[in-house]
Amino acid sequence: MPYPVKSYAAHAATGRLGLFQFDRRSPRADDVVIDILFCGVCHSDLHSVRNDWGSAHYPMVPGHEIVGRVLAVGAEVTRFKVGDAVGVGCMVDSCRHCHACGQGWEQYCESGVTDTYNQQDRIDGSRTYGGYSEKVVVAEHFVLKLPDALDLAGAAPLLCAGITTYSPLRRWKVGPGSQVAIVGLGGLGHMGLKLAKALGAEVALFSRSPGKEADARRLGADRIILSTDPAQMAAVAGQFDLILDTVPSQHDLNPYVPTLATGGTLVVLGYMGPLEAFNTGPLVFGRRDLAGSLIGGIAETQDMLDFCGQHGIQSDIEVIRIQDINESYERMLRSDVKYRFVIDMASLKEQTL
Ligand SMILES: [Zn+2]
Ligand SMILES: [Zn+2]
Repeated sequence: MPYPVKSYAAHAATGRLGLFQFDRRSPRADDVVIDILFCGVCHSDLHSVRNDWGSAHYPMVPGHEIVGRVLAVGAEVTRFKVGDAVGVGCMVDSCRHCHACGQGWEQYCESGVTDTYNQQDRIDGSRTYGGYSEKVVVAEHFVLKLPDALDLAGAAPLLCAGITTYSPLRRWKVGPGSQVAIVGLGGLGHMGLKLAKALGAEVALFSRSPGKEADARRLGADRIILSTDPAQMAAVAGQFDLILDTVPSQHDLNPYVPTLATGGTLVVLGYMGPLEAFNTGPLVFGRRDLAGSLIGGIAETQDMLDFCGQHGIQSDIEVIRIQDINESYERMLRSDVKYRFVIDMASLKEQTL
């Protein structure tokens, strides 16, 4: 029997999100039915709703930082039972047999990963709808276990912002002795500081404006570098093994490359699109790498959640009601959030149609 659910949906790129009802599918044999308790608000929700990437289908129900409890399971589900605290991130299916899937890199599935929203289900072709809703039905392979130590609301942003920063930190083997810098102090950036610090690195924040010192230090930064001050930038030339660039809009990467050590890597995480003119000289002369990275695979996401459970790491959040989502988008555009909005889904459940 399908599940009728309430949600918040966008109906056009320029419109406001509003109440929308649809049916979640009856669980298949390997499906987990999740009662959603919290959902994080990611900057890519805003990009998707406003069709910044040109692939929007409406109505669109955003949300890919989903936390809830298991309501029911299909006959073949073995890892979850009713009542378990679980999470769902940016993807809900993949082919599961290509080279990428075999490596645990489902996000790079060669036939295209199935995103949590604004995509088509691989089996029945229906639209995928995200976490700004009461319930979600997801194949067991794409459901994560939440460690008991984590606060459910504070854990939600780990499913996208957490794994997006954790994956490159692990790929480039960050640990004690590593010199790491983070560009941008938003949803991704604040998780990057916490995770890099917990992995044992020495951590710096590049900031374009002063006044973030106290917050950055509390989140794990050992120092703050004003990227608009040439003297401060020159003082860190050749310094960093790894820089995570979390800025979600077009910007200039040139100032950061000379601050990489020889063989160091600058990883772009927050922005997909054309760059301002890029000077390859500092790359060539320092054998430096410019790289990109997209979330992380399912096994790595579970590893990240377990790491956060062990180290008491969660996101700094502001809990909102779903009725305030449009205003929250406006505030997010002004970077007026410390550091992630999380929707309390009780506010949706109590709203009448
Ligand atoms: Zn996201
Ligand atoms: Zn695949």
